[in-house]
Amino acid sequence: MKELKAADGVVYEEAALLMKKAQEARKNAYTPYSHFAVGAALLGSDGVIYTGCNVENAAYSPGNCAERTAVFKAVSEGCKRFEAVAVVGAKEEEVPQAGAAVCSPCGVCRQVLREFCDEKTFRVYVTDGVSLFCYTLEELLPLSFGPENL
Ligand SMILES: [Zn+2]
Repeated sequence: MKELKAADGVVYEEAALLMKKAQEARKNAYTPYSHFAVGAALLGSDGVIYTGCNVENAAYSPGNCAERTAVFKAVSEGCKRFEAVAVVGAKEEEVPQAGAAVCSPCGVCRQVLREFCDEKTFRVYVTDGVSLFCYTLEELLPLSFGPENL
């Protein structure tokens, strides 16, 4: 598995580093309605990690998921290709515990990620509170529709 060096100088495996950054980003989630906080950490092809959290809204539908927050942040800063993402979610005051349901990207986020990724190699890391799981985007969004289909 690919290794990355974090700002603190520690070398983490890609998944562990991205999950750590996702957990940090989760602390900024704005979730007064669902009380379900999600963080995401997206590895750009430029080597930069872009983070995001979910941001809810009183009108509900204007809210945004953590994954799309990270994607839109990256694109707005000039990065339009991505290698991997880690996603972690749980009730606000909890950390995912053993046996917790895996929080994986919603369908809308999977489609948004598809726009900027190679679905065969893009890695999605999720956790059940004990183990890390890795899926390709193709596994999560089979027979997808992408830019080359137009
Ligand atoms: Zn989503």
